[in-house]
Amino acid sequence: MNKKYDYLIVGAGLYGSTFAYEAAKKGKKCLVIDKRTHKGGNVYCEENKGINIHKYGAHIFHTNDKEIWDYVNQFAEFNNYTNSPVSISKGKLYNLPFNMNTFNQLWGVITPKEAKSIINEQIEKYGVKKPKNLEEQALSLIGKDVYETLIKEYTEKQWGRKATELPAFIIKRLPVRYTYDNNYFKDRYQGIPIGGYNVIIEALLKDIEVKLNVDFFKEREKFEQLATKIVFTGKIDEYFNYEFGELEYRSLRFEHEELEEDNYQGNAVVNYNDLDYKFTRIIEHKHFEFGTQKNTIITREYPENWNREKEAYYPVNDEANSALYKKYKKLSESKNNVIFGGRLAEYKYYDMHQVIAASLKRVKKEFL
Ligand code: UDP
Repeated sequence: MNKKYDYLIVGAGLYGSTFAYEAAKKGKKCLVIDKRTHKGGNVYCEENKGINIHKYGAHIFHTNDKEIWDYVNQFAEFNNYTNSPVSISKGKLYNLPFNMNTFNQLWGVITPKEAKSIINEQIEKYGVKKPKNLEEQALSLIGKDVYETLIKEYTEKQWGRKATELPAFIIKRLPVRYTYDNNYFKDRYQGIPIGGYNVIIEALLKDIEVKLNVDFFKEREKFEQLATKIVFTGKIDEYFNYEFGELEYRSLRFEHEELEEDNYQGNAVVNYNDLDYKFTRIIEHKHFEFGTQKNTIITREYPENWNREKEAYYPVNDEANSALYKKYKKLSESKNNVIFGGRLAEYKYYDMHQVIAASLKRVKKEFL
């Protein structure tokens, strides 16, 4: 039977939009649906008085992969924003990621040799060679002082559980360097699309039919009849009706505030390590684009427990959840007409460049 569309793409985020763009280039007819009232998933920006607000938290594009960098640059020009967050801990300010500035602020040391000597002494004293969880990983990578000042409380409030109950890989995202370099990322290419992320999404979906405010699960049977194949970018456990049980996610609440001042915190991202603050960070959006507006808009980011009524922002890739995900993955492999992709459908802590890369990889396989 002839279907109306070749592909139904569930979710208008980066994975789905990239897939739709590439499929349309191959002459395929696509329909993209999204339950939100806008396109772009979590990279969506909302403009207010000339400031692009990252509605779902800070998104800073970075990659080492020239192909991906060239790919996104087809759709938007990038500015030269470099992410250099600072962190406040017990009323004192520290540079991130952990680098010579941080070590100077912590111990007054000036040379890499002095810093290394303190850190190595702390690592040796700790003595764990094969870290099994985030706490052990941090202590054996950077020592007690950095861990206690800048990691422990931030991490426990971000993830809502003890650092000893979290996978080690999460902390490996953060570089440690013995240079005076506050660039948060190690990647060669970095920036924010001029005009915000919507510019990229609009370009990707320019010739694609998109229906917003539409919940796949509310009209599942109808949608499943519409297309030969489905690209599903939502939660994989929800797709399968949670039949093996719920995967665990971490949610967030964003509190946006407009202030009648031009510069609230002097930086785009300020982290708050201490548990006394319920939020993990404050974003001042204009600094992503070197804005000179009279007012400013800030967003406080509060980590929250996830439940089915809330947005799932982070997968919790510990052992139990990874084992459960494997069961869903296996089941998904039996669905020949459904492609599962993106942070939620692959249950992976993907960054934006990785999502695009994953989508392009799938596209290649699909259209050999
Ligand atoms: N982290 C930390 N202190 C900080 C910032 C990050 O301990 O000031 C840890 C925390 O466990 C966090 C992880 O590093 O979950 C990764 O941080 P990143 O900023 O890469 O996370 P994202 O922006 O994806 O939330």
